[in-house]
Amino acid sequence: MAERTLYNKIWENNRVAELPTGQTQLFIGLHMIHEVTSPQAFDMLRERGLKVAYPQRTFATMDHIVPTHSHQRPFADGQAESMMQAIENNTKDYSIQFFNFQSGKQGVVHVVGPELGLTRPGMTIACGDSHTSTHGAFGALAFGIGTSQVRDVLASQCLAMDELKVRRIEIHGKLGTGVTPKDVALFIINRLGVKGGIGFVYEYAGEVFDSMSMEGRMTVCNMSIEGGARAGYVNPDETTFAYLKGREYAPRGADWDKAVENWKEYASDQDAVYDEVVRFHASEIEPMVTWGVTPGQSVGIHQNLPEPSAMTNDGERRSAELAYSHMKLSPGQKPSEIAIDVAFIGSCTNGRIEDLRAAAEVLKGRKVDPAVHAFVVPGSMQVRKQAMDEGLDKIFTAAGFEWREAGCSMCLAMNPDQLKGDQISASSSNRNFIGRQGSATGRTLLMSPAMVAAAACNGRVSDIRDFNPMGEALAG
Ligand code: SF4
Repeated sequence: MAERTLYNKIWENNRVAELPTGQTQLFIGLHMIHEVTSPQAFDMLRERGLKVAYPQRTFATMDHIVPTHSHQRPFADGQAESMMQAIENNTKDYSIQFFNFQSGKQGVVHVVGPELGLTRPGMTIACGDSHTSTHGAFGALAFGIGTSQVRDVLASQCLAMDELKVRRIEIHGKLGTGVTPKDVALFIINRLGVKGGIGFVYEYAGEVFDSMSMEGRMTVCNMSIEGGARAGYVNPDETTFAYLKGREYAPRGADWDKAVENWKEYASDQDAVYDEVVRFHASEIEPMVTWGVTPGQSVGIHQNLPEPSAMTNDGERRSAELAYSHMKLSPGQKPSEIAIDVAFIGSCTNGRIEDLRAAAEVLKGRKVDPAVHAFVVPGSMQVRKQAMDEGLDKIFTAAGFEWREAGCSMCLAMNPDQLKGDQISASSSNRNFIGRQGSATGRTLLMSPAMVAAAACNGRVSDIRDFNPMGEALAG
């Protein structure tokens, strides 16, 4: 049957039943769990005397509450330590593979799944974290879920889901120098709005995504949720297969060849029918930075911060006024006038090896401004090791960055990495909501890892294209 999108194909392949509620019961191929949203789910299983339906389809790691100065146990924070003990006990009791510190494979859940080859095209994936959409980069349908749904998936390997519409977002042309996948993600959210994707899955297509690395595609899919979409994906292609080949859990030998043939079938048909198609050109995108308290409140680095009075939508204007009051910024200001206190490179959005390479490239031979506290948190132990094998840790530390252990860190500050008071951070993470980085008055500016590195050195938001004297295109 032609005319089907990847979304249609995966949905139909995994449909178990239509529920009386009107929802679809969907089989979940891969369930990733972590220490924060799983303990109560396991407690609920125990209360009802239920087993984990498919322990071999469930994989665990620890990331949110992990301190990144040191992985030394027991953790100083008693609550964090008890969450760790809970996931250790639960994975043991239910025979679930657990990527702990000793395995050398611990890390942020959305970094670990792809790098181990657990995330594959055509799959349905669920995890108790909003940014599960990351895995869609592989041509999978990946959904962030809450604790009660974690329980449901543990008990039944199924989720009750509402059917979604598909919006194809095409970006044609070639990205300019210094414009990275993070800028693409922020640009899309800025144009379509933080609620623009509600009820949709986003399919990313066009030359920009065709030529984007898997890590870049993960960055864009990761932020689909920030644009309101339930999931985001890129159709699987040779870039996808090359990334997966040889990964620990990827098929091997004859199974590999069969798998690739099967994966190709999932890509949207040439004549697929979409609910909506929107098109942009790469030349419209410049390095981006947020100025407000939603990821949609952003500007290109050369634009001035917008005037709320010029906003015709009441909600948008009120949201901008609230943002200015919290951020202590003013309409008309230039991004380059914003001084920063903290520089954070990490998270499942931008804590992979390409992100670290891009930031290190900026930092070579440079120093962090003495007023800035800068630290880099690799997305996983494997990313950390790879970076150290390449000598990136030395570049970071020579520049004045702290080199940390893997974890979520200041993406959400459920650990010791937190802003203090009204500090302002340049952050490679995904959310700039009020309080997200650990202080109710803290302020977050989202940008690419290279831009964070540039801001760290200049002590203020900077255009990476002016900053990099080589004028080279920067990945990441
Ligand atoms: S890095 Fe942030 S978004 Fe990603 S899994 Fe951790 S807390 Fe969630």
